Amino acid sequence: MENTFETVRQILGSPLWGVAGRVVLVALGILWLALVFWTFKDARQRIEDKLVVVVAVLTSLVFPFIGSLVYLILRPAEYLMDAKERELEILAMEQELRSVRICPNCREPVREEFVACPKCRRPLRDTCASCGRPLEYWWKLCPYCGRDVIASHRGVEETAELLEVN
Ligand SMILES: [Zn+2]
Ligand SMILES: [Zn+2]
Repeated sequence: MENTFETVRQILGSPLWGVAGRVVLVALGILWLALVFWTFKDARQRIEDKLVVVVAVLTSLVFPFIGSLVYLILRPAEYLMDAKERELEILAMEQELRSVRICPNCREPVREEFVACPKCRRPLRDTCASCGRPLEYWWKLCPYCGRDVIASHRGVEETAELLEVN
C-alpha cells in the first residue's frame, strides 16, 4: 500500500508534468491565435463595417476561445459576396418586371411574342409566310423552315420598343 502511494507521489512529482503542462499551454496558445486569425478572416468576408470586424477580432483576442465562440454565434449568416449577388438578382428581376415592350405606334404595352399590336393592328414582327412563326426583323430566312424571308417581308422595320417604366 505504501509502495503504491510512493509510486503515485513519484509520478505526480515528476518533472515530466511540468513539461506536459507547458506543451498543453503552448498548444492552447496556438489554437487561440489560430482562432483569432480565423475570426479575422471570416469576419472580413461577412461584415462590411471595418470597425465591427476590428471589434470581433479584438473580442476573440482578449477573451480566448469564448470570444471566438461568441463571434461564431453572432456572425451574419451569409457572406458579403452572396448577399451582393442576391441583391443583384433581385434588382435584375425587378428590372425585368418594370421593363415593358410597347407598340411604337400607339404605346400600348405588348408582349414579346406578339406579332402585331392588338389595339392598333400595327405589325410588330414578320411571320414566316410558310410556317407562320414569328420572325425577328433582322432574320434573312426563317430558321424554323428555311424559307427566305425577303419574299414574304411585310416591311416591319421597327419592332416593339423596350420601355423603362419607373
Ligand atoms: Zn399599337
Ligand atoms: Zn418558316
